[in-house]
Amino acid sequence: MAQLSDDCFAFGGALLGIDAARQMIFERVAPVAGIEPVPLRRALGRTLAQDIAAPIAVPGYDNSAVDGYAVRFDDLDPRRETVLRCVDRAAAGHGATLALGPGEAIRIFTGAMLPAGADVVIMQEDCLREADLVTIRPGIRRGANLRRAGEDVARESIALTAGRRLGPADLGLLAALGFVEVPVRRRLSVALLSTGDEVREPGEALRPGQLHDANRYVLAGMLERLDVDVADLGIVRDDAAHLGDALRQAAASSDLIVTSGGVSTGEEDHVRSAIANHGSLYFWRLAIKPGRPVAMGQIGATPLAGLPGNPVAALLTFALVARPMIEALSGTDPHIARRFRVLSAFDYRKKTGRREYVRASLDRKEGAGMLTSLTETDGLVELPEDLTRLQSGTEVDFVPYSELT
Ligand code: AMP
Ligand code: MG
Repeated sequence: MAQLSDDCFAFGGALLGIDAARQMIFERVAPVAGIEPVPLRRALGRTLAQDIAAPIAVPGYDNSAVDGYAVRFDDLDPRRETVLRCVDRAAAGHGATLALGPGEAIRIFTGAMLPAGADVVIMQEDCLREADLVTIRPGIRRGANLRRAGEDVARESIALTAGRRLGPADLGLLAALGFVEVPVRRRLSVALLSTGDEVREPGEALRPGQLHDANRYVLAGMLERLDVDVADLGIVRDDAAHLGDALRQAAASSDLIVTSGGVSTGEEDHVRSAIANHGSLYFWRLAIKPGRPVAMGQIGATPLAGLPGNPVAALLTFALVARPMIEALSGTDPHIARRFRVLSAFDYRKKTGRREYVRASLDRKEGAGMLTSLTETDGLVELPEDLTRLQSGTEVDFVPYSELT
């Protein structure tokens, strides 16, 4: 991989580490208060606002896990076949049957209530039925092929805890417990804007020196996956007064502001100064590549994530900075991207003191462009702060894009 030894970000003063930035986010950003009940079918992706205790046990009754014969274990001969008399039939959904007496079996189907006295179910494949007699092979253990009441969820136990982002299986669990609605955090409203005199909407003809706004599409997609309402404020010119107005309006009508571009040190980078003028700045430089210029602060009382303009850096810093801010605001359990240990098939040199993320494919193809390097690779190799030289064949942490976006 081609790599220049100099980099375009001049080093000047201490940079904040990613872990310290994350900690600062969770210290300074408090959950928004609102809690609302929503019907189960509308709850996918929402953040659970309270612990959920189980009002009933799941399963609610002892039942059979297979089609077969319910019997008393003590009636079975452990060494040879046993012949029992079949006295009743238990199908799912049809309530209790006769209680089992000595020497008796009851024909039973998956999900049917276990007859009183039965403590094992023999799979029908292990039985021979002739008229009302059933012959059972030896070798079963007591309690086999049963599901006991409460073995999945015990009554009054905590089935789900506050802060969980509800997935399909969670909705299934809530439904099994009988809930028709569930208390969730109010959905956040996030204002999103791009900055830059060169940035134009897709569909607009480009003049020399202009480009289409890619970031708002990357970031809106990432925001929508986090189940927030996106207020799209479009593209704002590189003009301090203009930007200040846009940010103050955004602050008045949203829970969080996400911007891209304009956070470096150039005189056309107005986002950082707008934060300083209209609110307060917590940090604006992270010890990270790509994405070193990234600002966090607030406009009025509304938190703001000022992401860099470079689309790769915007995507990465959204995952590392904006997403934790959203989790802090919505009281959602923080997502920790899973890392997988893989062997590096490339050499790499880096500066000490910053964490680097290198686009990588599991099949070794390296992308070269900006956005294509994301669409044509599988994830990022995370190189720790203290590393300076990676040699091919060493183990590295690989984060798939699915864990970030
Ligand atoms: P900035 O952070 O404003 O200095 O921008 C850094 C680089 O990212 C510049 O090359 C910009 O043209 C580019 N850029 C800024 N905003 C966007 C955007 N919304 N979509 C695509 N590229 C952008
Ligand atoms: Mg710019």
